[in-house]
Amino acid sequence: MKNDCLFCAIAAGEIPSQKVYEDELCYAFYDINPQAPVHFLVIPKEHIAASVSEITAENSGVVAHIFEVIARVTKEMDLKSYRVISNIGEEAGQSVFHIHFHVLAGKDMHDTLC
Ligand code: 5GP
Ligand code: ZN
Repeated sequence: MKNDCLFCAIAAGEIPSQKVYEDELCYAFYDINPQAPVHFLVIPKEHIAASVSEITAENSGVVAHIFEVIARVTKEMDLKSYRVISNIGEEAGQSVFHIHFHVLAGKDMHDTLC
């Protein structure tokens, strides 16, 4: 756990959040500022700084696991269509530098890739 990391504190339960799913490797919770009717985040419990740009052979296992979890949880929520986003860098909109994946659903996103 990294000091001063918001998502490490959320994964540790030190900052409250609305849980979607949890296992030994990852934690999923609703975004505090939802951009769609369904908007949750999936993070590894272990701090990976800062984004997709830092994925390596050593840490990619947990990323693959997160995508398995996204597939399973969205099925359980009966989401037929959804979008997975990961922002890399401030210009792309990244504000928390602990790798995370947004899952968004429940609105028409045809004309809004960015
Ligand atoms: P980013 O902008 O880094 O891709 O995504 C960070 C996300 O974390 C944002 O969508 C923001 O709304 C969300 N967020 C920031 N602080 C909190 C918080 O304290 N609790 C929850 N649940 N979400 C947060
Ligand atoms: Zn962290």
